[in-house]
Amino acid sequence: MRRFFLEVYGCQMNRHEAGIVRRILSSAGYSETNDENEAEVLLMLTCSVRDHAEQRALGRLGDFRGLKERSPGRVVAVLGCVSQNLKSELSSDHGADLVIGPDGYRRLPEMLTSVLLSQPKTQDPKPKVGSPVFSLDQSAECYDGIMPVPESPACGSVTVMRGCDNYCSYCIVPYVRGRERSKPAEQVTMEARALLEQGVKEVTLLGQNVLAYRSNGTDFAGLLERVAALPGIARVRFLTSHPKDVTERFLKMIADTPNVCPALHLPLQSGSDRILGLMNRRYTRTEYLERVELARKLIPGLGLTTDIIVGFPGETDEDYAATLELVRTIGYHYAYMFRYSVRPGTASAQLGPAVPVAVAQERLERLIALQNDITRAHHRSFVGRRVELMVEAPAPRGGTMARTSDGTVVIVPGPVPVGTIRDFMVTSISGWTPVAGPAN
Ligand code: SAM
Ligand code: SF4
Repeated sequence: MRRFFLEVYGCQMNRHEAGIVRRILSSAGYSETNDENEAEVLLMLTCSVRDHAEQRALGRLGDFRGLKERSPGRVVAVLGCVSQNLKSELSSDHGADLVIGPDGYRRLPEMLTSVLLSQPKTQDPKPKVGSPVFSLDQSAECYDGIMPVPESPACGSVTVMRGCDNYCSYCIVPYVRGRERSKPAEQVTMEARALLEQGVKEVTLLGQNVLAYRSNGTDFAGLLERVAALPGIARVRFLTSHPKDVTERFLKMIADTPNVCPALHLPLQSGSDRILGLMNRRYTRTEYLERVELARKLIPGLGLTTDIIVGFPGETDEDYAATLELVRTIGYHYAYMFRYSVRPGTASAQLGPAVPVAVAQERLERLIALQNDITRAHHRSFVGRRVELMVEAPAPRGGTMARTSDGTVVIVPGPVPVGTIRDFMVTSISGWTPVAGPAN
């Protein structure tokens, strides 16, 4: 049996797709190893949203190539968004044997066989390299019929749509992941049901903008309702919602369905109308704020999180101040904050003037410090409260990691079986994470 080693970079979508790759390879007779030295097939599932992620993957590719040079006959394969972005450069400049974009994984076993057969088996002082193989056609692929290996015994995810048609000016996703397409509602419910049969308690519905979901007259609110009605499903989450598409009907549906978690990831990106316009986000700061207020009114205890970019081309001190001000006003529970990274080929790559790196870095650090204070205060507000937690996994530094329905991570000291859902009492904060014990 051939062994593969898989390294995964990037977002939750990539972690989900890693499950699809695992399923495809295990069905073809491969087994997974966590030791790259043991593997005949070295795979990396990459992210190209920011240059830093791309560079990290290229650095690791150098390690994989080193392993291959020391012991020939192995195959080095690059999957995911960097494949689609850099294409043949990955084989000509970085030594990849196989380059497969996000829509090509069904062909992985067949392509691996052809590359494995063409690999020189001996340590030749001037090793001949077999011809690299590519699969970069973009299709309507949604991997229907392939059940991904779940990421954890208690939590699973279903991709409900792939690609993106929004073309935010900074973003590479529409170019590397292709056009927006939705998975039929029957397929989504079938995959969710299969996860529940395997013991999963919480299902997350995934897409770059789930609110654009459309399939045979079903919109995302309708889909969510169908998934939430499946027997045995304790919690339903979804990711990501574009603020321009948030409707009252959708918010009411979350509020009225007890097992849909009261949590919304609503990327703001910037608090300045001028920058939002340049980003092609299609909402204003006022519209964004109105939707947040409506969501908070309709959904008690809403957990609100966001993404923010600083240092977008032309961002002035005033634009940045508008972002800080909105972050302070809204008080997100958590935020993913990034320094703008220019992505060649996107619309904003043509924009200027660039914000100097040192200025953008300083803005990022100040924003992170502000958000950290807000997140800490949110976590402190849990102390002394009784909360329902779902236990997700053993915590990396001991104890057990659990989550509230609003998405806050809480540590429970000592072992608690994964998948347990019950009330706990939050007693203290450790670092900045709430710690909970038994509720009497
Ligand atoms: N579709 C989702 C959305 O609209 O929010 C997620 C897309 S992206 C994978 C996740 C986040 O990365 C974005 O929300 C944005 O904040 C950030 N991002 C995307 N392109 C970026 C860039 N060129 N530079 C810095 N951050 C970027
Ligand atoms: Fe990128 Fe915008 Fe699409 Fe999100 S909605 S993936 S940020 S283009």
